[in-house]
Amino acid sequence: MTLTPEQRAAELRELLNRYAHEYYVLDLPTVPDAEYDRLFRELEALETAHPALKTPDSPTLRVGGIILPHFEPVTHVVPMLSIRTETDVTENGAFNFDASVRRELGLLESDAPVEYAAELKFDGLAMSLRYEGGVLVQAATRGDGATGEDVTQNIRTIKQIPLRLTGNAPAVLEVRGEVYMRRDDFEALNERQRERGDKTFVNPRNTAAGAVRQLDPALAAQRPLSFFAYGLGEVVGWDAMPRTHSGLLDALAVFGFPVCAERDVVQGGAGLVGFHRRMREKRDGLPFDIDGIVYKVNSLAQQRELGFRTREPRWAVAHKYPAQEALTTVEAIDVQV
Ligand code: NAD
Repeated sequence: MTLTPEQRAAELRELLNRYAHEYYVLDLPTVPDAEYDRLFRELEALETAHPALKTPDSPTLRVGGIILPHFEPVTHVVPMLSIRTETDVTENGAFNFDASVRRELGLLESDAPVEYAAELKFDGLAMSLRYEGGVLVQAATRGDGATGEDVTQNIRTIKQIPLRLTGNAPAVLEVRGEVYMRRDDFEALNERQRERGDKTFVNPRNTAAGAVRQLDPALAAQRPLSFFAYGLGEVVGWDAMPRTHSGLLDALAVFGFPVCAERDVVQGGAGLVGFHRRMREKRDGLPFDIDGIVYKVNSLAQQRELGFRTREPRWAVAHKYPAQEALTTVEAIDVQV
């Protein structure tokens, strides 16, 4: 039986909402990410072709998951958004993004290339760390982007996260980044589980997400977590704030945050392709899982000019590797067992 576009859209909304619940709330996905992404793109395409099908509860309009009732809600002054995933996983995807940025900025062919900050897309969960007077006062999950969960007690157990910033900290500084679990820490954790005859964990991402949302901070402390800073939320009183994304990351490193060394500042689409290639060679040897790479327009002034769509900025895109989709599929078989 062939479904009408309306029926298929309803079916996709229901499926995607269920998968999002399993992934974001239960930390226990039942389908590979590539499958979720495929269905998501199908729904997006249907909604573009039939705008009347875009209901307010569509997953294409929402960020992330639902807030668990056990934690205090935290309102994000600056929303925590998603990142658009480039549909073309070949190197052309980098040129597509560069072309859309140039178009939006109204640049001519004769204008200079756009400068980008290229970095890894860490496969963990997003965290917002709030410092007042240089002291960590709150840590919140992304939640639905507007409201997150207060997980400060658990986050304080992560030794890589500074409790007090070094240097001349702004009055208010919200640092956004990814909490993740290194591959060797994940293996060691599972080894301990096996020795004790306990159930092993499925993958580093879901183990990290589960640890952060543990109700008992002592249990969370037993899960070895790491952190990489990759951006900012609310900022008050930062006089010498850098003007580029890469400059911001350098400054965050000086404040004491772990910032991943595998990043680069490149020019235009060709520069992005170069980074894409270099990281393709390196990614299997990295000590942590990545979910692709991220390209960001480096100038903060150009980022402001480009602005946002409903759930994502126009100045950033996630680019995955073709083989990565297959790899995710293999992992997902484990998930279902
Ligand atoms: P996203 O992962 O696509 O992109 C935004 C997130 O990227 C941010 O919140 C941040 O946490 C992270 N990130 C990592 N490195 C970053 C960097 N260098 N700079 C900026 N951000 C960085 O966000 P999303 O929209 O929540 O997630 C969708 C992803 O989750 C998809 O890839 C999808 O496959 C997966 N997912 C899977 C299932 C499933 O059932 N398997 C369900 C829901 C979502």
